[in-house]
Amino acid sequence: ELATEDFEAGSAREKAQKAKLAAIEDERARMAADRASLPIYAHREGLLAAIEEHQILILVAETGAGKTTQVPQYLHEAGYSKLGKIGCTQPRRVAAMSVSARVAHEMGVKLGNEVGYSIRFEDCTSDKTLIKYMTDGMLLREFLGEPDLAGYSVMMIDEAHERTLSTDVLFGLVKDIARFRPDLKLLISSATMDAVKFSDYFDNAPIYQIPGRRYPVDIMFSKAPEADYVDACISTVLKIHISEPPGDVLVFLTGQEEIEAAEELLKSRTRGLGTRIAELIIAPIYANLPSDMQAKIFETTPEGARKVVLATNIAETSLTIDGIRYVVDPGFAKQNEYNPRTGMESLLVAPISKASAMQRAGRAGRTAPGKCFRVYTAYAYEHEMDDNTTPEIQRTNLANVVLLLKSLGIHDLVNFDFMDPPPAEALLRALEQLYALGGLNDRGELTKLGRRMAEFPLDPMLSKALLASETYKVSEEVASICAMVSIGSAVFYRPKDKAVHAENAHRAFSRGNVGDHIQLLHVYQGWAESDFSSQWCFENYVQLRSMKRARDIREQLTNLMERVEIELASDSENYDAIRKSIAAGYFYHCARLQKDGGYRTVKNPTAVSIHPGSSISKEVLPRWVIYHELVLTSKEFMRTVSEIKPEWLVEIAPHYYSAKDIRDDGKKMPKGKGRSAAA
Ligand code: ADP
Ligand code: MG
Repeated sequence: ELATEDFEAGSAREKAQKAKLAAIEDERARMAADRASLPIYAHREGLLAAIEEHQILILVAETGAGKTTQVPQYLHEAGYSKLGKIGCTQPRRVAAMSVSARVAHEMGVKLGNEVGYSIRFEDCTSDKTLIKYMTDGMLLREFLGEPDLAGYSVMMIDEAHERTLSTDVLFGLVKDIARFRPDLKLLISSATMDAVKFSDYFDNAPIYQIPGRRYPVDIMFSKAPEADYVDACISTVLKIHISEPPGDVLVFLTGQEEIEAAEELLKSRTRGLGTRIAELIIAPIYANLPSDMQAKIFETTPEGARKVVLATNIAETSLTIDGIRYVVDPGFAKQNEYNPRTGMESLLVAPISKASAMQRAGRAGRTAPGKCFRVYTAYAYEHEMDDNTTPEIQRTNLANVVLLLKSLGIHDLVNFDFMDPPPAEALLRALEQLYALGGLNDRGELTKLGRRMAEFPLDPMLSKALLASETYKVSEEVASICAMVSIGSAVFYRPKDKAVHAENAHRAFSRGNVGDHIQLLHVYQGWAESDFSSQWCFENYVQLRSMKRARDIREQLTNLMERVEIELASDSENYDAIRKSIAAGYFYHCARLQKDGGYRTVKNPTAVSIHPGSSISKEVLPRWVIYHELVLTSKEFMRTVSEIKPEWLVEIAPHYYSAKDIRDDGKKMPKGKGRSAAA
């Protein structure tokens, strides 16, 4: 009897095994069919032949054609990966992660093995990696270690039309390398725009164009301008859901906070409708969304339900979501704006270009005819939107790139082969800033400090702060602060029904009125002391996800610090030393209290205010502050602010500040103001 049982168990196991194999086989067949149905598939042989024949090829195909996911696989199948890695750059980290996960899945391998990705602070590759997706910024950094990209047989600069700063700099670098590495294949791939310009730049490289497959999209404009576009978008989504035939909806918003607000709004509005409407599945996607949640946007919508994807402009061309038939476009995106005259840079929500608006609309017509609802007027489209987005290189601070190019031994930046050169003024500003930071000498050459700064994948100001912390013997603390400001998403949260509790918990991290950097330090320290507990985060209204990221970043920073031989030292209570270190990088971002109670930046005086989210008390405003960044909404807000003493500036940045800059102008400060609580 025992034997029979065993026999039966064995056969059941075998049966289960067989079923599992059959399921895998099914999945493989489905995947192969999916791959074969993409527009690029019919061009596989032609494309491979063109790559074989030419060293540089411009590849143009509409979004969703299969450029990003398929071409690296074709190259791998054709044997290129035997000669070296196949690299593919992406302007956005989410795209690099999501696309590599998809390709690993299509190839039936574990992500991080044959197919991997590399983004700032996260390397998911191994010795086995043959196809490597990475952000354009990470490839730039790879040049520091491998200036001829020796490990690669092919490099695909993808999403070239986005013209990010890093992609533009890569153009110049790879064009140069191609000359002395004839065996390296270069693919410049783009969604329809500017192909001729790319070809001209790359010495008339041939353009391989894959004809698009597009269905008509009906475009509707708002009749009158909308006061609150998020609210208007949500109303539009609900109207679509109630009155339009099946098909998923894609809403373009500007960032994580706005997406979270929209999600709340959508949930509360549909709650009121109960079961009278069909199921609405909400799927957000933005840069810092954890990877397990990113997958949700690609899940097939069940029969009878409708999916609403709330996305940043990542869904404009970087990611293609199948099944979208409706697009809701408020016409905005978050942008960095830089004024080379004043050297001021701020983040703001700005109107998109007409070209972007067309791309967004196009997302509705990929698999069937669709509709695009523009939550702005036809007049605004005609008169308030530029034709094309200005390349980032022409509207951003270049200090980062200048430091990197100098580290690569490229000294003559004015004559660097830029596709569109940056404004001369912006280059000059960057050189000046790096000089003031001590990264360049007065001949514009990299200093020892500059070389060490370039080791860190951080903004030069932040790298400088980290390096300065060595002098002040607080490198442990400054590493934590650098990690906390590099998370890129909110640390605190404040549920509406527990706002007072949350605010009290957050206030408990402040010390005196010294400011936000020290507050962030205490958040990190508190969490570390709790042994990185999730309960601790919950009790203190702190985002666990953000903290985990901070821990990862901190670990990498401390590893790099070891590499450049910065001694790890700690002096937790020495807030002066900690703030001096931060100020050693951020003296550029310095503002001074005015007698009207507002602030003005010290150089190139401009009115700025402390962000309402700051821990600094509005009752006792410090006289001198430094800030991490400016955010432009109703006015220029300084975000992440710390009180400093003006005499530090002269000590820290003697090239930049003199005693006269910090001299009191003799006018009395309002009573009670300007007192330093830390003093
Ligand atoms: P292109 O780069 O030309 O815009 P892609 O290679 O990104 O095109 O996309 C090709 C197809 O792969 C699209 O149909 C897209 O929906 C699908 N796809 C891409 N990434 C994923 C993913 N993570 N999950 C499911 N499908 C995906
Ligand atoms: Mg793509």
